[in-house]
Amino acid sequence: MEVPQVQTINRIGCDRGQNNLAVVAPAKGFGKFFSGKEVKHRRRPNQKRRQSLQSAKKFRALKKWDKRERRWMESVNHTISSKVVRFAQYLNADVVIEDLEGCRDTMKQRKKNRVDSGESRHSWAYYSLEQKLDYKLALKGLRIIKRPAPYTSKSCSTCGTLGERKGHDFNCPNGHYHNADLNAARNLSRWDGFCCSLDLKRDAPQWRVPVDARIHVPLG
Ligand SMILES: [Zn+2]
Repeated sequence: MEVPQVQTINRIGCDRGQNNLAVVAPAKGFGKFFSGKEVKHRRRPNQKRRQSLQSAKKFRALKKWDKRERRWMESVNHTISSKVVRFAQYLNADVVIEDLEGCRDTMKQRKKNRVDSGESRHSWAYYSLEQKLDYKLALKGLRIIKRPAPYTSKSCSTCGTLGERKGHDFNCPNGHYHNADLNAARNLSRWDGFCCSLDLKRDAPQWRVPVDARIHVPLG
């Protein structure tokens, strides 16, 4: 197959989160949100059903159930990846995503509320989305770029300082407020030049801004 050759230096970040299945954004300008609400909504009862099948030792039914859920999640990922690719084409940009290795660390932290919020086996869904993105981007002559995750959700996409992420909100000591997922996506898009441990070191004195100096702007 003939694959178009496009060389681009533009990048958009793609953060795969819990609040949103994915958020894609360039360093500046509008981003796109793919809400995870519907998935969570559907997964929670699925999870309950799954557990009851398991404790009743109905393994064949369980397998069937898992397959069905998997197929459904696959189709969700197909839709999302296609839309992300279209956005990438529109901006003629490669897509930067978190390395799954780093992703697993945050998964561990979330383990405690995993089962009841229907978020287990999440890493499989991440991986599936990544694969779909990869081949669909390649067909358009664009690339997927993987970056280590540790700082993408912890530093401010405006000034690079370490901040605090709480649910949907991100606040940095210098008073910048961001939607947490959008902040992470923006950081990914500029990872090489901006959001790295060196920048964090350089900005270190700014961490000492007192906590009270932060502003908090609630979402919507
Ligand atoms: Zn900031």
